[in-house]
Amino acid sequence: MRLIILGPPGAGKGTQAARIAVRLGIPAISTGDIFRANIRDETPLGKEVKEILAAGGYVTDEITIAIVEDRLEQPDCEPGFLLDGFPRTTSQVDALDAMLASHGKALDRVLELTVDEEAVVVRLLKRASLEGRADDTEDVIRERQAIYRRETAPLAAVYAGRGLLVQVDGMGEVDDVTDRVVTALGH
Ligand code: AMP
Repeated sequence: MRLIILGPPGAGKGTQAARIAVRLGIPAISTGDIFRANIRDETPLGKEVKEILAAGGYVTDEITIAIVEDRLEQPDCEPGFLLDGFPRTTSQVDALDAMLASHGKALDRVLELTVDEEAVVVRLLKRASLEGRADDTEDVIRERQAIYRRETAPLAAVYAGRGLLVQVDGMGEVDDVTDRVVTALGH
């Protein structure tokens, strides 16, 4: 299965992606995790994107697309994959389409976790103070939500137009959300 999981920052995408991926026997690929690992390891890429992540902006399409292209070429993606955090812009949608088409492949489903934005902001603020994430100020958290709304939320309509979109209520207990996702995917 080739899947995408969409949803605003703090919707629980990473948690759900990991669970679904295990269940389906496919890798969960998070572009955010790839960037964070590079920042931690102080690689040239990490140095390039560090400030962007700290400010809550988007890394350029050029860099992001190259990373995903490389990752999807890995043999573990042969049976499928679950993309978490990519695509985030319409250019990334086009790039993913081209990557898949060049291998004669297509997406199976796009899962959107729907959440109440205000509740998510409150949750993220609580987490930032508990975990001492000084960079996650309310301004940065709200900016990430605004960028998502502007740049990425419209992708749901694109995939709905292709008949690929499955929306799942992302509010509530983690296990309940997983159950809803599994039911929605028919697995
Ligand atoms: P995430 O863990 O998915 O919330 O991503 C964390 C950060 O990584 C984002 O706020 C962006 O700065 C960057 N990022 C992750 N994926 C992308 C993407 N597809 N396009 C641009 N920037 C991204």
